Amino acid sequence: MRMKGTPDEPRFSVELLEGSAAVRDVIDKHIRDQTLALKSAFFVADLGVVVRRQVRWRAQMDQIRPFYAVKSNSSPVVVEILAALGTGFVCSNKHELDLVKGFGVPSQDIILGGTCKQLSHIKYAAKHNISLLVCDNEVELRKIARCHPKAKVLLLLRSESCCEREETVIPFGSTLRDCRHLLERARELSLHVTGVKFNIPSCCQDAQAFSRAVSDARCVFDMGEELGFEMSVLDVGGGFDGSEAQLDEVNQTLKPVLDMYFPLSTGLSIIAEPGVYYVSSAFTLAMNIIAKKSVARDFSGQVHNALSANDEPEFLYYMNDGVYGSFAGKLLCEDSISMPSAHKEVSAEEPLFSSSLWGPSADDLDQVVERCLLPELSVGDWLLFGNAGATFTNGEEHNPPVFYSITECDWQHVHNCGVTLDVRMRNFSLIPCCLQPNTSKVSVSTPA
Ligand SMILES: *Cc1c(COP(=O)(O)O)cnc(C)c1O
Repeated sequence: MRMKGTPDEPRFSVELLEGSAAVRDVIDKHIRDQTLALKSAFFVADLGVVVRRQVRWRAQMDQIRPFYAVKSNSSPVVVEILAALGTGFVCSNKHELDLVKGFGVPSQDIILGGTCKQLSHIKYAAKHNISLLVCDNEVELRKIARCHPKAKVLLLLRSESCCEREETVIPFGSTLRDCRHLLERARELSLHVTGVKFNIPSCCQDAQAFSRAVSDARCVFDMGEELGFEMSVLDVGGGFDGSEAQLDEVNQTLKPVLDMYFPLSTGLSIIAEPGVYYVSSAFTLAMNIIAKKSVARDFSGQVHNALSANDEPEFLYYMNDGVYGSFAGKLLCEDSISMPSAHKEVSAEEPLFSSSLWGPSADDLDQVVERCLLPELSVGDWLLFGNAGATFTNGEEHNPPVFYSITECDWQHVHNCGVTLDVRMRNFSLIPCCLQPNTSKVSVSTPA
């Protein structure tokens, strides 16, 4: 099978996995290739995950339109496939706006999110008729009124502070009282307020948090309408971790509250801003072990280098990428990293050792995983980090390369959504790829 590219050269090569080949086979293939070469770190992306997330969203959350939060993973391939599948987008800067606009996404499907925006980015949004902007303070409101008088503002409501992340939650959003104040200022400035956004992080979701947020949003809608605004957008934010169970749970919690406070009235759009949801498990990061040390911990917890007979060894593995590269997100959020697994086959009987994983820069901060249990590994072995989708940011030069793939079955899903290569995914070039063992026919074609 061979798929045609378009007259203008497609920019992204995506391997189309034939037969029963799976993404794991793609990882194996690239590890084999890399083992003969530089053993550089790389990502493998399974675009089928992104597609299946969208199919699931449509099935379960059909009353809520998703706007993908581009900062979660700004891979142009991910953006193009989501644009083709019809999501909207939340951008946090000019670069992301450019990226999304480049795929022909209509301006009304784009939100300039973030509550503190560079003036030139607001002007840029105005120039491109991107009218939905998020705001939670008066200084920002005045900036928007000055540079983008036709904007439609979404007021960001403050969420109840929650769990350990309290300090990261507090600076964002305004209280109900502040919202009234902002609505009045907006009216004085002749700036249009069109709706309300709230955001409940996945770590803090309970029924009460949702019902409080939705009822507060109702209050702001009522205040807005009282002041003469046409309130028509309710944005329930992000916080979808990608698991089916959580999506189910959020839906079951949110739906009755929405039905109660926002019975489907004319002209109301309910939207959400999932980011991690679409990409997290779509990317796997493969890293090579470049160095190894062993230490021992004695009964008092002291670490020393010389192993004696009955000391349990601990291993320090150094990888070819770290906190100053692909794991930059780790500095912001400890649990953004999932525990790695060894790529090589290990028997179930093999003992596991306490191990720590480090990046290559002899820096104390460059610790990627403080402690995990792994079989003993050697220099040259590979480690796989699943759920690496939200650690990927495009445009950083040190980023390891990404190999994109999709199975035939998932590609069929894309077709079922009415998307074809020549119309909506012009940058894609699908390269048929047969990875089954014991098959001599390996068909690889390069884009015309
Ligand atoms: C990061 C971000 C999101 C996505 O939230 P997740 O919970 O990470 O999926 C949504 N909206 C905005 C404005 C963001 O910056």
